[in-house]
Amino acid sequence: MGSQIGHSDGEALDFASFSNIIDGDKKRTESTIHGINPATLEALYPVPLSTKTDIDAAIAAARAAFKTWRKTAVEDRKQRLRAFAEGLLLHKNEFAHLLTKEQGKPLAVAESEVDNAARWLTGTAELDIPVETVVETPTSLIKTKYVPLGVVVGIVPWNFPLMLLTGKVGPAVLTGNCIIIKPSPFTPYCGLKAIELAQRYFPPGVIQALSGDDSLGPQLTARSDIHKISFTGSTATGKRVMESASKHLTRITLELGGNDPAIICPDVDVQAVAEKMAGLAFLNSGQVCIAVKRIYVHENIYEEFRAAMVKKVESYGVGNGLQKDVFLGPVQNRLQFDRVKEFLDDIRQEKQVVCTGGDVLQTKERGFFVQPTIVDNPPDDSKIVREEPFGPVVPLLRWADEEEVIARANDSNAGLGASVWSSDVEHARCIGEELEAGSVWINQHMGIIPTAHFAGHKSSGIGGEWGVDGLRGYCNTQTVFVNR
Ligand code: NAD
Repeated sequence: MGSQIGHSDGEALDFASFSNIIDGDKKRTESTIHGINPATLEALYPVPLSTKTDIDAAIAAARAAFKTWRKTAVEDRKQRLRAFAEGLLLHKNEFAHLLTKEQGKPLAVAESEVDNAARWLTGTAELDIPVETVVETPTSLIKTKYVPLGVVVGIVPWNFPLMLLTGKVGPAVLTGNCIIIKPSPFTPYCGLKAIELAQRYFPPGVIQALSGDDSLGPQLTARSDIHKISFTGSTATGKRVMESASKHLTRITLELGGNDPAIICPDVDVQAVAEKMAGLAFLNSGQVCIAVKRIYVHENIYEEFRAAMVKKVESYGVGNGLQKDVFLGPVQNRLQFDRVKEFLDDIRQEKQVVCTGGDVLQTKERGFFVQPTIVDNPPDDSKIVREEPFGPVVPLLRWADEEEVIARANDSNAGLGASVWSSDVEHARCIGEELEAGSVWINQHMGIIPTAHFAGHKSSGIGGEWGVDGLRGYCNTQTVFVNR
């Protein structure tokens, strides 16, 4: 395996043509599909429609590459990850524009996703694969090591198609596995191009990509010759993945949907927190697994908070993410647009009070635009409180009693993230510890870093990614007993 890394950094990448990446090469398919720019509804470039032949070839290449890759020095793998991150940043501008075109997010948000995609590679490269010494005496040595699994399939959703991809690639290859990425058919472009770029830094077969339609995911998860599926997406699909993986006891990590509560205590700086909350609910048009999705505001500050948040939200531009001063791009696809409309219809039918928004946005452009919408204290059993809209619609909920608000925040199948906001940090931390969520934030929300573990409680997932525990998820344990 060659030791030269990043030999062709300066080479141009063609951001208008897209292929599968199999065994180090760009591979076309007979038939193609394409994504749609959600701001204009224009068809984007053709991408491969993979068949069983492509799957067979990618898995065979991964299995062959694994024999050598698993034995490479960890330091060598880390250098390659860092070089890949540099490569991504060299092409930041092209990736960010492509991301806005395929996903819809504003250019500034796309740029920060490219930065984060690189950061998830370099951050992962800071981690070490653990070795645990269980017993060490003059006569006995017992150690638990973590050894790679083999071929990983990484299934990526459409909301953060680049950052969630490197969040799988980094840990998988650092631990000595080979990975095949399957991007979402709604947003295949940045993923395919990033894996094409990765070929400059990794040997053939270590990092590959297959694009396809809705049938590709189930075909991949049903294979007996893969060893792990790392899936990020909806809870409904996650259940299907788990069912399919059970046939061959394929390892799984499931990062699924959320319905994050934020509890706002009466002692906060109302103006500042209300403005922050607007950003945390409506970033990426609400299409973030850890966006704030239920905002519980203490009754003493409820009206003031509502007014401040509405004012902030009404200052947001909605439109094509390539235009200046746009904070909310379109919803990413028609399915999701229809889903968000169902929430708006339900709010209307149930005669809930809307403080701002409440409808789709009529613009000159034809895209999937929705007005950012705040619902005023709907009932706890309403659709907008119980379910994840995954769009720019959020309920404000009034609370009075601390124990009761903790119970209401926990009354959900989801358990991804939760936050508490107060000027009394210790008190907020005590409330936070009562919350059933994999990530709990005090006076912040959505904080994630590549070196800290991220995982959902309840229906928000099984296993988790990132941090040292994330690395463990890509490994088998091997306990070695030495009789000295
Ligand atoms: P989705 O479940 O529809 O699709 C996710 C991926 O799975 C796509 O690549 C899709 O093509 C593929 N897929 C679809 N059916 C499949 C099947 N039967 N077997 C295997 N793969 C299949 O999710 P989405 O709509 O792309 O993403 C939105 C959801 O993802 C939201 O619920 C959001 O909360 C969740 N999400 C979770 C996290 C997290 O880290 N927990 C992060 C981002 C998004």
